[in-house]
Order: sequence, then C-alpha cells, then structure tokens
Amino acid sequence: MKTIRTRIAPSPTGMMHLGTARTAIYCWAVARHFGGKFLLRIEDTDQERSTQEAVQVILDSMKWLNLDYDEGPVYQMDRLERYREIVDEMLKDGRAYYCYATPDELNAMREEQKRLGLKPRYDGRWRPEVAKDKPIPEGVKPVIRFRNPDDGAVTWNDAVYGSITVSNTELDDLIIMRNGIPTYNFAVVVDDMDMEVSHVVRGADHINNTPRQINIYRALGAEVPVFAHLPLINGPDGQKLSKRHGTVSVMEYERQGYLPEAVFNYLARLGWGHGNMEKFTRDELAEVFELGGCSKAAARIDWKKFDWLNQQYMKEADGARLAQLTRERIEARGGKVEGGPDLAVVCDMLKNRAATLEKLADSALFFYKYEPKSADDIAAALADGGREALALFAQKFAELEEPLTGEAVYGVIQAVMAEQEIPMKVLANPLRVVVCAADRTPQIDQTLCLIGKDAVLARIESAL
Ligand code: GLU
Repeated sequence: MKTIRTRIAPSPTGMMHLGTARTAIYCWAVARHFGGKFLLRIEDTDQERSTQEAVQVILDSMKWLNLDYDEGPVYQMDRLERYREIVDEMLKDGRAYYCYATPDELNAMREEQKRLGLKPRYDGRWRPEVAKDKPIPEGVKPVIRFRNPDDGAVTWNDAVYGSITVSNTELDDLIIMRNGIPTYNFAVVVDDMDMEVSHVVRGADHINNTPRQINIYRALGAEVPVFAHLPLINGPDGQKLSKRHGTVSVMEYERQGYLPEAVFNYLARLGWGHGNMEKFTRDELAEVFELGGCSKAAARIDWKKFDWLNQQYMKEADGARLAQLTRERIEARGGKVEGGPDLAVVCDMLKNRAATLEKLADSALFFYKYEPKSADDIAAALADGGREALALFAQKFAELEEPLTGEAVYGVIQAVMAEQEIPMKVLANPLRVVVCAADRTPQIDQTLCLIGKDAVLARIESAL
C-alpha cells in the first residue's frame, strides 16, 4: 500500500483558528492511524498579510497541542524557484500562458457578461490561439494563467462528502502566477505533488478550489490525492464561528488556562464520532480515527461541554504538572510561590473545583499572597463567639508538634467546639477570614497545615 501522507498547510496571517487546529488533528490522526507521515507547510505567499509572528503562533499552537509533524515546516516562499520551473514547462507547451489583460479591461469584461446575464468568468482572450496576432501591450505586467480544459467534467470522491462533479464549463483559466509569486491554487498542487501528499484534508471552504486543482494535477501528469473536506465549525447559534461567539484562537485557550489534551479531545470530537467515545487520548483517537466518521453537517461548538471536558482533565492531572502550569499564573497575581506551601499539594487539593488553570491560580493564590481582610470583615468574623473560639484555638494549636498533621489540627478544632459548645462555623469562619484571608478554602485543617504553624499563630495574634 502507498504510504499515507497528510499535511496541514496554514497561512500565517493571524492566529491559529480552532477550525485549523481541528483539521490538523484529523490530518495527524489519519497519518498516525495508518503509520504514515504528517507534514507541516506554511503557506506564506501572501506577502502583505503573512507575518513572522503568525508563523510563530502556528508553530506554538502545533507544539502546545502536541501535534508532532514528521516533516517540515516547509515554507512556500522558499520554493519560488520550483514553482517557476514548473510554470516554465507549462508555458512551453501551452498548458499555461501569459495574459496581458489589464484590471480595467477585466472589469469591463465582467460588467458586459453580467449585463448579458452570464456568469462572470475570464473569457480566454489571451489564450495563445486567440491572441496569436495581438500586439503585446506596452507597460502591462502579464500574469500567467492555467489553461483549463473546455469540455468534460471533474469528479472526485470526497472522503467526507462523497462524489462531487463540476463541469469544466463552470471553471475558467485561473491565474497561477503573478509577479513571480504562485497563487494558492497552483502552489498547493505543486507542493502536494512534490511532498507526495496522499490525503488532502481541509476545510469545506476549499471545495470550490478542488476541481481547479484536480485539473492542474492532471495537466502536470501527477496522481490526484484523496480529498476530504471538513464542514465548518459553527458557534452555539449555528452561525459561522467567529470572535463574537467567544475564543477562537488556539493559543488563547492556553492563556485562559485550558489543558491542551482537553482542547485536543474537544476539537477532535467536534464533527467526528466513533460510537459513544467522548473522552479519549491522542493514541485512542489515532487508533480508531477514520475520515468516514466525520459528519457532513457543520459542527456546533458548545462552550459548556468544552469547559466540562477541561474540568475532567483537570481532575485527572497530576498535582506536580498542574503546579508547573499554575506557578507563573500565581506569580502574575503577585503570589510568592518560592518558600510557600508545596504547590503540587495545593493543586491536588484544589483541582477538583477548578475548571481551568486560571481558576486554579485564583483559588490557590491565598496560600502565596496574604493580604489581611479589612478591619470590618475581621470584626464581623470575630463577633458572636468567634473571638473566644479563635483565642482558645490559638492556645491549643500552639502546643501542637511539627510537622503538623491534618488529624492533629482537626483534633484541636474538635476540642474547641466541644469546650465552647459551638458549631463548627463559629470557629471555621474566623479561621478563614483571619488566617487565610480567603472566602473559600479547601478543608480547613489541611489548609492550616500548609500555611504552617508560625504563620497561623502570627496572623491570629495580630487580629485578636
Ligand atoms: N493555506 C490554506 C488555508 O489555510 C490551505 C488550504 C489547503 O489545505 O489546501 O486555508
């Protein structure tokens, strides 16, 4: 069997969109499923819109999602010579030709076609046989057009949409090179041919380009790959996903504290299914992934499900890993992690209730940044028996031996409650307000152990 080779070919003109990431995941999964190769190509021929930062965003996004590619990145701008070489061959035998039509002329042509009720299309006025005796106008920089077949039709069996046929009468002679730079439809074919791509998986917005590209493959005598077009991702309201629906940039998810495996899983499941598989690893996806499992209908994003999935991965994540991912976020909030309680232990305690790393950082912050509550808050917490409970607690707590244990601290809390005949909250509330200066804490005995004996006593003393 032929080696399966897939590629993701983003244009570096901005962020990496969730849709591109999902395409990349599917390309990766096809390659891994068949033991093939997955390639990265940067389509940077749009010199006005391509930027180095956007290239970096693509590389970072691929890395963050752990989409390991076997070859590349290949940059189209490094391959200009190759495109020219092919164009030169095509020019020699009329598969391509120079077109000297000016923009004004082409506009007039389209207006006239519209007036006659025709579909606007290039009329072939510079095809060699038509323009044989035409003088070459001065001062016009020609473009190079592909000579599309006049008759017949192009048919391909799309791995997602099934058989699609487009008549050649629907297509015109498209521009393949301008000022020495190939256009998308041409470069993509030369690259996929040279890179021996066997499966072109991409967004359904490219379906219209596919028959044109197939004609170019044929003109080059190259084997036509399998095409699989993926329906777009829509927002929760069924409209095309855009910024107004929420975050659409992959790296923005990293900033917001999502785990890459959750984003990977959510995107993979969005528009593809296998039985009742909802939560799966990369390897599990690679094992069962088939393009035939992709839906033909546009996927609808569901942010709640996205968050839910992230929460599941947060719960499962190891405390040490979460600590690594949360540390900078705590420091950015002014927390001092160095010398504070073991962040891995703190993350383990808090992860079940934090939907994202950002939320985890919020809830862990009080361990690393003590900012006493206002005098009013403290006074309120000390009212109604709080002061006495806290004082007795401090007395007994001071006698505990270090290292503190949760059971020992719990014993002190119980003793105070029994002696003063008070419910838990009369003591727990001042402990939270005064010692933790937090509205919510994990189990108070564990929390106090982590804050440490000296700090707990010093904070109580300064409040009483
Ligand atoms: N550069 C194109 C895009 O980002 C690639 C399309 C393709 O995969 O052929 O949409």
